[in-house]
Formats: sequence, C-alpha cells, structure tokens
Amino acid sequence: GGEVSPQPEERVNVIVRIRPQLYKTEGGEDNMSLQVDSARNMVWALAPDDDGSGRGKLPRQFVFDTVVPPDGVQEDVYEAAGRHIVESVLEGFTGCVMCYGQTGAGKTYTLANESAGHNAGVMIRAFTDIFDHIAQDREHEYEVTMAYAQVYLDTLSDLLSPDNDVQIREDTNKGVFLTGLTWRPCRSVAHAKGVLADGNRNRATASTSMNADSSRSHAILMMHVTRTGGTRTLLGKLYLVDLAGSERVKRSGVEGQGLDEAIAINQSLTTLGRCIEAMARGKKGERPPFRESKLTRLLSNAIGGNAKTTLIVCVAPSKRDVVETNSSLEFGQQAMNV
Ligand code: ADP
Ligand code: MG
Repeated sequence: GGEVSPQPEERVNVIVRIRPQLYKTEGGEDNMSLQVDSARNMVWALAPDDDGSGRGKLPRQFVFDTVVPPDGVQEDVYEAAGRHIVESVLEGFTGCVMCYGQTGAGKTYTLANESAGHNAGVMIRAFTDIFDHIAQDREHEYEVTMAYAQVYLDTLSDLLSPDNDVQIREDTNKGVFLTGLTWRPCRSVAHAKGVLADGNRNRATASTSMNADSSRSHAILMMHVTRTGGTRTLLGKLYLVDLAGSERVKRSGVEGQGLDEAIAINQSLTTLGRCIEAMARGKKGERPPFRESKLTRLLSNAIGGNAKTTLIVCVAPSKRDVVETNSSLEFGQQAMNV
C-alpha cells in the first residue's frame, strides 16, 4: 500500500479540555475542582479526598502537551489536536484523534458536533481542511471515502448501514480491516457532513431501540484519502474516535443488560489503557494487548507504532465530578509517557 511511516520519535499528543460549567447544580466558581495555567499547559486538580478548603493552588499538578481552559473554543482544540494530524493524513500517514472522558464532559461536542461555524467540532473542521487542500492541489488526483462504525458491548456495527454484518479481519498485507462495512465516496465537505449526519442519526436510533444510552458506545469515523498522479500513490487514513463514557459504573447499582454493558465498556476502555501503558513502557518485544477487545483491535493500526495519535481528555470542571476528573487526568498522564 501507499502508507508512509512517521519518524520513530512520534508519540501520543495529549490534550486536556475542560468544559465550562453549564449546569446550576455545578455550583459556580467556588465549586471548581480545577485551576489552569494554559500558557504552561498545566492543570491543578483537587484530590478526591480533599475538601478543597485549603488556600492557594490545588494539590495535584499535571502537565500535558496542551490544556484548553473552560473558555477555550473549538478552534483552539482543532489547532492543537486536529490540524497537524489531518495534514499528515494528506501526506499518506495514518492519524487518529480520540476523545476520552466521563459522560457529559464534552467528548461528542468536541469531536462530532455538526453545527457550522464557531461551534463546529473536529470532524467538520477536518472535512473542511481536507477538501480545501484537494481543491488547491492541481498536481494530483484524490479519492476520499468514509465509513462510520460503532462498538457496543464488544459488537461492531455499521452506522451507515445498520443491517450490515461487520467483522474484523487481519491480513499480513492489509493489517486489521473490517468486512461488511459501507465505504461512501465523498467529493465535498457537504458529502462528508451528510455521511456524519446519517451516522450520528443511526447512533441515536440504535441506542434508543436497544434501550441503551449512546454514551455507552464507541463511535469511530474513518476516512481514507488516496492520492494519485505523482511518482507513487499515497493512502492516508484518518480515525476520529468518540469513546464511550469512562465513568466507573458501580456494580451494585446495575443489573442485567446494564451490568453486561458496564463490564464490556469497562473492558474495552481498560484494555485501551493497558495498551497505552504497554506502549509507554516501550519494552522491546512486548506487544500491547490490542487483541483483547474489538475496540483496541480495530484501533491497533491507528494508535500502534506507525500512526500519529492525539488523545483529547475531556473533563468537567466542578467538585461534584472530582473522582472522574482525577481518573481521566491520570489516564491522560499515562498517555504522556508513550
Ligand atoms: P459527552 O459526549 O462527553 O457525554 P457532550 O459532548 O454531550 O458530552 O457534552 C455534554 C453537554 O455539554 C452537551 O449539551 C454539550 O453541548 C455541552 N458542552 C460540552 N462541552 C462544551 C463546551 N466546551 N462549550 C459549550 N457547551 C459544551
Ligand atoms: Mg457523547
């Protein structure tokens, strides 16, 4: 294939995005669990066991590649998380932008928000950059195709054709790929937006009919950009991943389908965490356990060795979410070591 391998020093780029307080129940300025120094990419968090009555800086300090404060906008996130990944996909690399965090922290808003202009998410901005680039390049021909998959309870489905039977396969030449998945050709931003809207609609419908919440599923938008007309053909692959909510579900509170769900979701996110840990240790010969969940198998090409990956950790700003916020920041910290 025409894929290009990045330089060996490539590692996961980690961005923390703090959403603004949106709800009266969050208690306003006095109830913030986070302080930010975005110029130094630092964030201080209230520890879960601290009542926050002390003065000065909050006790736990974290440093990331980028910290986007509550008043940061979608464009800031795209500049830090998306633009360079899209540029490398246009040069034939594989790139991945992934949103992690508890339900309500802003993952879907950050990534998949469909509105135009100021509020547009990473996906819409990526479409715009890709088709602008194509329009300006007079020397090459391009072909763009898109697919949109969902992983729910360790089962894969096609968000563009929900009746399709999607399976993961592996091939020594092609690596991991999916059979039964619909790939739609796209010739413009409008086409791509149409595909996103169809998939988002099916994601909502599917979860309603299964009596489940869409926050329990992982959604993976994939774009293939093939460039021909030069001395060689390039194939760039972009993965944009809206992960399921990372909140720990207390077993005592859930039964039946809810419990299966909690276990399956925890398993795929836990496996993702273990893959990131293994990559961070970087031991020669140690293989991250990509095969242990559908999510990580599917993403093994997108986050393993040869891909450029950005992890956006979305967190809520208030004291009531302090436990999940700490655990999300720890997840991000681990990825900083990859
Ligand atoms: P998640 O996908 O992580 O569960 P959502 O993206 O659905 O969270 O966000 C929860 C709510 O907060 C939504 O109503 C969303 O529009 C809003 N929201 C999230 N982040 C922001 C932000 N940075 N600015 C304004 N509204 C936001
Ligand atoms: Mg969501």
